[in-house]
Amino acid sequence: MNSVKKSNANVKPNPTGALVLVIDDDQTTQVLAKRSLENAGFKTILASNGVDGLQLFDRYRPDIVLLDVEMPIMDGFKVCREIRSLASGRNTPILMITGLDDIDSIENAYSIGATDFATKPVNWAIMVHRVRYLLRSSIIFKALEASKVRLAKAQKIANLGNWDWDIKRNKVFWSDQIYRIFGMNPSDSRLDRKSFFQFIHPEDRDNLKTEFQADLLQLKPSNHEYRIQCENGDIRYLLQQAQFTLNANNQPLRLSGTIQDISERKITEEKIRRLAYHDSLTGLLNRNSFQERLETALCLAKRNNRIMAVLYLDLDNFKRINDTLGHDSGDLLLKIVAKCLIESTRKSDAIARLKNNQNDAEVARLGGDEFTILLSEIKQPEDAGLVAQRILEKLSGPVPLNGHNVFATPSIGISVFPEHAENSSTLLKNADTAMYHAKQCGKGNFQFYTEQMNANSLARLKLESDLHQALENKEFAIYYQPIIDSESGQIIAAESLLRWKSRKHGLVKPCYFIPMVESNGMIVEIGKWVLQQSCKQNAAWQHAGLKPIRISVNISSLQFRHTNLLDTIEQALQASALSADYLILELTEGMIMQNSDQTIQTLQKLKAAGVKISIDDFGTGYSSLSYLKRFPIDTLKIDKSFISDLPHDKDDAAITTAVIAMAHSLNLRIIAEGVEKSEQAEFLKHLGCHSMQGYLFGKPMSAENFQACLKNSQSSNEVISIEKTG
Ligand code: C2E
Ligand code: CA
Ligand code: CA
Repeated sequence: MNSVKKSNANVKPNPTGALVLVIDDDQTTQVLAKRSLENAGFKTILASNGVDGLQLFDRYRPDIVLLDVEMPIMDGFKVCREIRSLASGRNTPILMITGLDDIDSIENAYSIGATDFATKPVNWAIMVHRVRYLLRSSIIFKALEASKVRLAKAQKIANLGNWDWDIKRNKVFWSDQIYRIFGMNPSDSRLDRKSFFQFIHPEDRDNLKTEFQADLLQLKPSNHEYRIQCENGDIRYLLQQAQFTLNANNQPLRLSGTIQDISERKITEEKIRRLAYHDSLTGLLNRNSFQERLETALCLAKRNNRIMAVLYLDLDNFKRINDTLGHDSGDLLLKIVAKCLIESTRKSDAIARLKNNQNDAEVARLGGDEFTILLSEIKQPEDAGLVAQRILEKLSGPVPLNGHNVFATPSIGISVFPEHAENSSTLLKNADTAMYHAKQCGKGNFQFYTEQMNANSLARLKLESDLHQALENKEFAIYYQPIIDSESGQIIAAESLLRWKSRKHGLVKPCYFIPMVESNGMIVEIGKWVLQQSCKQNAAWQHAGLKPIRISVNISSLQFRHTNLLDTIEQALQASALSADYLILELTEGMIMQNSDQTIQTLQKLKAAGVKISIDDFGTGYSSLSYLKRFPIDTLKIDKSFISDLPHDKDDAAITTAVIAMAHSLNLRIIAEGVEKSEQAEFLKHLGCHSMQGYLFGKPMSAENFQACLKNSQSSNEVISIEKTG
């Protein structure tokens, strides 16, 4: 180390003035170098052989090295190679100085990493400038390197890469991050301008190509979002932004741009969009998004002079299924229905399709069991009817649900733009009104909106608000309809039928107000009153000395499920002192088919209390006689829809015959309802139907009229016999 000059000892690594390491065994060169460089403001350290030079390099990290080639111990080439192999020496400028000026030495020097080359004798005045120049490039180079590192880091963080297309030479530069975004190694050579489009998602490819062509024509900054499909199957969402560089003649020289992987953002956006716009159970649109789409579709329809329709759909039995089989089953059914609605509206073979519009229909769940469908591609209103028909057909059969077969038939209302409404809210409201009408028309059908329905629905609203006072105002009355024994023709029972004698609306039939009081819960209170009144009335007839008959009272499902039904009945019987034997409860199949233990228990308790159970409207519901066998029931009332066309309608005749025969075999009493003609009565009597009810024997009438009728019947024995009244 004796060759290291003392003057270097205080030189700190990386001083402000650049530090030059001179490695040369020639004393004269060392002195000249030191003097010239220091005069020019550099700091120097000197080494007179390669080994010392390397040590100094490692210790002081000079900004530049002047290196003699011919030296003892270790020549300049070797020193240069060693320096380059150090991490700290990779980019330090090394200027090699030699007396050899043969081309081989020069080539050798460059090949092992020398930055520049000078020959002896050295002109130090010029050399100083050369050192300064080399240092300046080195600084720029270092800054560039640092900036590259920073850029790469930033690109990695932003998941963004940059590219540059030299249009003339048709060469594209891709930054490392772009390769990573495309799921490749930066050394991969497969990414070029041609292959680029192969990575684009097939659904986005043509679109992107077209847009790209347009960009080339317009030479404007561009902005595209598309998806790529990586080799591992991943789909990524990319945002590409680019700008042209033009020459003086506005010819494009290059297109430079960025590609950012925005998948994460897209996925989050999609999630938020789904949450905000869709019903989480079925995945269908929710109410808000349906309304939005409806608005948009309306604008388009107005502009293009086209028609469209809204279908409003409500399941007929949903509440019962939900209550009976539980919410999980209910949810499952809603999902099945949703799927079915989508399927029914997708294949729009009967519907004219507009070009470019992929969606046939928008299907939404508004909540509960209410669905809406927007048909914006119909040619005529009837097309909406066809879709409704298709839905009804699809949902007409039994749906298997957790081991049960249930029916999910809907009632559908349709309103058409512009015929029925001009704005979205009225369109929706009218479809709802039409749906309500479909329910009233016996469910499981569809109805187009009419003006009349609106008037009806307004009247209905009025009616509903007035109903609240009806009980208090004593506006309810009970009418009684005779039930006669087929053999004797004598009145053996009366059915209690509720009437609303409204001060404002006149006599209102139960088919108008019973569904209302059922849906608002008032039926429990009203039904209790009917029970009390009916028992009281029947007891009164007995007190009046008439032969006892039974009183048959309709019970609504809400009442039946109400925990107090048994108490209510017992109280009614007690208060009227009527024997339970004279009370019949009319339940519908649907009510008792709710196969819960509770149903059977309630029925058994009623039975034990001595009350008779009658199944009303038999034939319109499940109609499973073998199933009914499990319940303690006494009587079946064949629904009047099977009676009205007797005896001529073959189907009705066959059904009635079969039902009566089976009822006999099950030891059940049987009543035919709605008997209006004597030929019906004859036919039924012939089949062995025990009792009958209908206008033929008497319409529902007031208690006084009924009493007179009863008195008459009992005194003359045969007043209401079949033969005589026919
Ligand atoms: P429902 O239990 O099936 O009652 C028989 C209905 O058929 C009665 O209609 C009756 O007037 C009608 N009817 C009787 N004979 C004939 C006939 O020969 N031909 C025709 N076409 N119809 C006949 P109403 O009184 O209008 O009652 C309608 C429905 O309202 C009843 O049907 C019942 O479901 C319900 N309802 C009546 N009163 C009450 C009640 O107090 N509580 C409950 N929950 N429902 C009631
Ligand atoms: Ca009834
Ligand atoms: Ca009935």
